Amino acid sequence: MQDTKSKRSLEVPKTMKAWVLDDPEQLRLTEKPVPEPGPAEILVRVDAVAICGTDLEILSYGLPAIVEGGPPFNKNFTIGHEYMGTVVKLGRGVDEFAIGDRVTAEIHAGCGRCERCREGMYTSCSNYGLNYGDKNKGHRANGFTTDGAFAEYAVNNVNTLIHVPDEMSDEEATLVVTAGTAMYGLDVMAGLLAGKSIAVTGPGPIGLMGVALAKSLGAQPVILTGTRDSRLAMGKKLGADHVINVRNEDPVKKVLELTRGRGVHYVLECSGASNALNEAAKMTNRGGRVCLAAFPHEPVPVDLAHLVRNNIYVYGIRGEGRSATHRAMAFMQQKRFDATIIHTHTFAFEEIPTAIKYAKERIEDAIKVVVKMG
Ligand SMILES: [Zn+2]
Ligand SMILES: [Zn+2]
Repeated sequence: MQDTKSKRSLEVPKTMKAWVLDDPEQLRLTEKPVPEPGPAEILVRVDAVAICGTDLEILSYGLPAIVEGGPPFNKNFTIGHEYMGTVVKLGRGVDEFAIGDRVTAEIHAGCGRCERCREGMYTSCSNYGLNYGDKNKGHRANGFTTDGAFAEYAVNNVNTLIHVPDEMSDEEATLVVTAGTAMYGLDVMAGLLAGKSIAVTGPGPIGLMGVALAKSLGAQPVILTGTRDSRLAMGKKLGADHVINVRNEDPVKKVLELTRGRGVHYVLECSGASNALNEAAKMTNRGGRVCLAAFPHEPVPVDLAHLVRNNIYVYGIRGEGRSATHRAMAFMQQKRFDATIIHTHTFAFEEIPTAIKYAKERIEDAIKVVVKMG
């Protein structure tokens, strides 16, 4: 994989190419005006954007995207939220960044005025989606409630941007927010992780980054479960001490075996499988903690009595709160793990529908598919 940096011009044109969402699954390439950054905002020239599982959700079902109070379809709306680029224009009062800086973007800029935003939980902003007309509270979640990065330019709140070090490629920089989501899950659930045991269930991008971060944070042992040997092998490269293919082995039995019958302190659940919470609860020890970073589409039965009797804590996380993406960047900058091994495919901007197809159907074992501009 050839990793690169964009060398495009910093000059800002009047219009830009952008993909917009018509009916479900229908993306269309069109021209839009280049957006203007307001106070505390920055115009970013998008240099690379990764396809996320949530993009596929939005394309099919609309949610969790909410545009002008409703579904995102047929509103000239642009998705895409895992991106990096170059600062090309500053809004009024912005001095945190300079023209030409390379930046990677967090998704959520909360309203900054609700209780959750004030607590640093801006990914759970109470004013989610309120950014239009009389209801404008200033909330932004690019690619969810405001225009995202399947376009040549995107506006970002200054709080959501992070400097990209020179030695990091554009492609790697799109993965920082994925690592930030795993970091947020570990932060919320675990606090001090050093010397504690953890199982990560589901080797998707967030699960794999969860393994890498848990190992870097000193967790011991780090156990990864999944169904695909190729992904489990990647987990090993990223620091998993043990991997369990649930097609061949009972993961609960195996985790208990690896922990002398006690179970792990923590489970980071990234599979979204319907029995995942029940299995996670049985993998963890009494007083242990489970963080849910994925979800099934249907309501599922849960063995609540087991959770209560064993004092098991269950956390749900949304996105990349409490500046976790900044901490993830610090780890990646120090090369504590090599996130680039989850980047499997690259496509051009005009090929976004093909990139989406690769991500969706996991063609050629695709994990992170990155779209590179220009
Ligand atoms: Zn995402
Ligand atoms: Zn808020």
